[in-house]
Amino acid sequence: MADIVFRNVTKRYGKTLAVDDASFTVNDNEFFCFFGPPLSGKSTILRLVLGLETPDTGEILIGGKPVNTVSPAERNVAMVFQNLALFPHMSALDNVRFPLVERRVAELEIKRRVADVAAKLHIGHILHKPPAQLSGGERQRVAIARALVRDPNAYLMDDPISALDARLREETRVELKRIQRELGKTLIYVTHDQEEAMSVADRIAILEDGRIRQIGAPAEIYDRPASTYVARLLGSPMMNILRSVRGEGGVEAAEGTIRIADKAAPVDVVEIGLRPEDIKVRPWADGGSGRPARVFEVEPLGGYTVVTLAAGQARLKALLRGQPDIRPDAMVAISCESARVHYFGQSGGALAR
Ligand code: ADP
Ligand code: MG
Repeated sequence: MADIVFRNVTKRYGKTLAVDDASFTVNDNEFFCFFGPPLSGKSTILRLVLGLETPDTGEILIGGKPVNTVSPAERNVAMVFQNLALFPHMSALDNVRFPLVERRVAELEIKRRVADVAAKLHIGHILHKPPAQLSGGERQRVAIARALVRDPNAYLMDDPISALDARLREETRVELKRIQRELGKTLIYVTHDQEEAMSVADRIAILEDGRIRQIGAPAEIYDRPASTYVARLLGSPMMNILRSVRGEGGVEAAEGTIRIADKAAPVDVVEIGLRPEDIKVRPWADGGSGRPARVFEVEPLGGYTVVTLAAGQARLKALLRGQPDIRPDAMVAISCESARVHYFGQSGGALAR
């Protein structure tokens, strides 16, 4: 069992609160992702798990055992660093063998473990090559193999694929997810890329200035963000967030931008959030329900189109399927089903509906 538990863990560097009263449980075999902007405390959390840093207050447990005073080596947690540099003078094979040779593992056992990890990562056919003769993706997989071969309690990855180009990143993250599932090991993964977090994680913890703001499955956080901060972090284009007032029979947003008919809307609503995919856009000529909006910009992206709309006092982004016949300056009618609306209160916290 390698579940990892933080209980009210705080870590300061001088005046900086790098990790602020963090409590969470990463379950055994879970793909757990920390997501947040730069300097939000992601790497510090990993260093605390590894034992490279000690908490100022609070407790860390691995597999049920308190580890605050346990050395990094004894924790047996493997870090795949941001920089996946291989030893250039060694073949891929010797790179993968290295952590085991260093730990004086018996030769037969080394062979068995290397063969096992090579099969899982599909690198058997390139092991004889030096790193210079490998593609970026192959080097990545050899470096991951080198981390996996130790058979640790858990793996930690700190933004491991951010240096790759977009296409390779998409391939690698699918690969990582598959590998994690096959290995059946706990993986704590750090990223500053929202799409990556959504695609790989069983659960995500969202960080802001060292504080955990929300923990949940990707779909859960996307559908029920706990605050405007979280709501803005996940989703592209970003959720539209509009200042709103509760009126007769519903909510009026940004002085006439859009009206939400919802008798159950909370009275203390300050802002509403509308996901771009939830905004309905119809030609104005159709009449009927909806508020008038002027098309400001159209971005056709193939499978879908992002339309920026000027309505009332606000700009909104709507995400439409395919390539609708909409041009800049056209008048349209916009609306949103009340069930799809997110309500936020004074401090940006989500309001129950
Ligand atoms: P992230 O990985 O999310 O970018 P970090 O965990 O590296 O964030 O940093 C969190 C905060 O702690 C930042 O304000 C950063 O400047 C500070 N910090 C991190 N490491 C150190 C250190 N060794 N000395 C001083 N401040 C640090
Ligand atoms: Mg970092």
